[in-house]
Amino acid sequence: MAADTFHGLFIEELKDIYNAEKQLLKALPKMAKASFSEKLKAGFTTHLAETKIHVERLEEAFKLLDEPVKGKTCKAMKGLVEEGAEAIEENDAGLVRDVQLIGAAQRVEHYEIAAYGTVLSMARLMAHDDVAALLDETLQEEGATDKKLTAVSKEVNRAAFKESPGM
Ligand code: FE
Ligand code: FE
Repeated sequence: MAADTFHGLFIEELKDIYNAEKQLLKALPKMAKASFSEKLKAGFTTHLAETKIHVERLEEAFKLLDEPVKGKTCKAMKGLVEEGAEAIEENDAGLVRDVQLIGAAQRVEHYEIAAYGTVLSMARLMAHDDVAALLDETLQEEGATDKKLTAVSKEVNRAAFKESPGM
């Protein structure tokens, strides 16, 4: 990430998140399809719809900042998405794999929460208030998604342990 000014770094960070969200647009339908639990499947489908809005909000942010709408490969998200794909490839569908999918999805949400938290505080400091409002909306949705995943995991974990304790 080459940037020698605060504002320049802010734009680079936005490009990183923009690319990360676009990677998720491709990954979330696969996560939904791979889910055994109907609740988990519905959760991924809902978050896919939200993610489409996250992409649009970032496009709006670039426009407000008079910057071209552009992403730059987010290597961290690439790795997180690959881990989710690996879980799907290497294991049969079922409750235990759902536990793994939730773990992968929560890692993604935590990454997004960190990334949006960073750019939100930068935007506020520079008084880019309209951009900050957009970023904050998305940050709240990422947080809500993480909490929903925790709630689903309580149910899925218990059922997976009951079905296949392995001990
Ligand atoms: Fe997002
Ligand atoms: Fe998300």
